Amino acid sequence: MLLLEREKSKSLIVADALLRRLETSDDDYPYFYEVSKRLHAGFEGEKMVDRHWFEMTNLEKHSLFFNYELMNEFGFPHQIDTLLLTPKFLFILDIKHMSGRVDYEEEKNQFIRTRQDGVIESFSDPVAQVLRHGQYFERLFTNLQITLPIEYAIVFSNPSTIIGQVPKSVPFFHTSGLRFHVSKLLSKHSPVLTEKSLNKLSKLLLSSLKRKDTKPAISIDRIKKGVLCEACNYQVQMIYKNRTWCCPKCGVQNKKAFYQALDDYRILINDRIKNNEFRDFFEIDSMQIASKILSRLGLVAVGDKKGRYYIIPENIASRI
Ligand SMILES: [Zn+2]
Repeated sequence: MLLLEREKSKSLIVADALLRRLETSDDDYPYFYEVSKRLHAGFEGEKMVDRHWFEMTNLEKHSLFFNYELMNEFGFPHQIDTLLLTPKFLFILDIKHMSGRVDYEEEKNQFIRTRQDGVIESFSDPVAQVLRHGQYFERLFTNLQITLPIEYAIVFSNPSTIIGQVPKSVPFFHTSGLRFHVSKLLSKHSPVLTEKSLNKLSKLLLSSLKRKDTKPAISIDRIKKGVLCEACNYQVQMIYKNRTWCCPKCGVQNKKAFYQALDDYRILINDRIKNNEFRDFFEIDSMQIASKILSRLGLVAVGDKKGRYYIIPENIASRI
């Protein structure tokens, strides 16, 4: 049973917001453009891997978590692409979306990719990463007095990746091998957890979910203010007139752009906004008009008078 849906990572959400909000001439624009492109490809790759789980008819009772994130007892984060909990084992998956050829040199803990143009690059060690996640769960299971085997795999979502020299200790394979690998694990292990303890552990994992908050190290004065017109590729600031936002260039009128702008504020600056901050960001002179817009939004208000701020919810951009 899928307990945690796949969501875009915070880094991807931030990169996309910066592409809307940085001037295209900004020194960091090309960097965030590349980050966004790479993370979007990775996200699509992860979704391609995800589909395979729903065709596995032999999984029986299980809990599946996509993008599982937690903070360990030492205050350090874990970001796990996929976590499968069954009565027989816990399976930790790292999903890589890469082109070219990949090799792993075990004795050096070195993961390298050779691009088609011959350029060789080194990437963070996926084996050390999954084993570190596993060590967290080993500690957790010891505390819970559970003896559940932990399995690992590095899965490549791009069919064009050539998997070269890889270690034997942690399997590396293409998405197409996932189903076969899971079948092997199901035959290898015997049940350890009862259905009741599986459910209990699943609930505990869900309640320990903690997403890492990412704010960019970009000063506010580099971020474009106001409601930006999507049709004009976020290059034109819309104006507030007759209770709606209108683009002076293409004439588009919509509320969606306003919600998108509030979401950008939440992602890049703060999820709390005061009346004066709202007026400054949306370039509205009148305090009364700002108050009316804010009250019509129905946001949760905290405090009163000058100290009052409004909380911008995470789902603000999905409002229509
Ligand atoms: Zn426009």
